[in-house]
Amino acid sequence: MARTHSSKSKHPPSSECGRRKNAAHSTRGKRDLRSNDGNLPVLDVAPTQLPGVLVLNANFEPLNICSLHRGIALLLLDKAEVLRFSEQTMRSAEEEHLIPSVLRLHSGVRRPTPELKISRKSVLARDGYTCVYCGSRETLTLDHVFPRCRGGETSWENVVCSCLKCNNKKGNRTPQECGLRLPHPPRKPRYVPYISFPRFVSAVRRPEWREFLEGFGKGLEM
Ligand SMILES: [Zn+2]
Repeated sequence: MARTHSSKSKHPPSSECGRRKNAAHSTRGKRDLRSNDGNLPVLDVAPTQLPGVLVLNANFEPLNICSLHRGIALLLLDKAEVLRFSEQTMRSAEEEHLIPSVLRLHSGVRRPTPELKISRKSVLARDGYTCVYCGSRETLTLDHVFPRCRGGETSWENVVCSCLKCNNKKGNRTPQECGLRLPHPPRKPRYVPYISFPRFVSAVRRPEWREFLEGFGKGLEM
């Protein structure tokens, strides 16, 4: 569970453990991602390969996945601390820095709980981009478990991810009527992330973010 992390004991400030070279400059403080000439560091990776930065609230709840530039801005403004670095680096004029991967805000942000509306992307994400009937990951579609033409609703409890083959086989029948097995009754995810639902599901699967998200990710399981 992410709340068990103590940033003070386990995660030194970014300016300390993010630096790989020129340790003699370690007294410059938290804003030293900016070089002496005031410019932001030069990135070693192409902009298209830039990783997102996971931003956690002060209470460790996931808030956002922002751009690396936004993440660096939060550090320069001393609004966040680094909990985890990626393996990629960026250079300032004198030093090489690890790129921050997970940030935690110093001050808690209050937001209303977002509404989790059903959508194609969200249903596919909830079902792991896998056909619930046969496990295929090819040609995925949405299927109304109780057929729409017979009054079935478009709801979290009645729509699942299905491959085209199973969807065609099922037609206007229920799974029981055509011999397909539905492993679990579909339902609305218990946890509603601030991050968009499909992005959150993808983020939970990133090994470097898993420990910060898996406690919340349990609310996504069917
Ligand atoms: Zn299938």
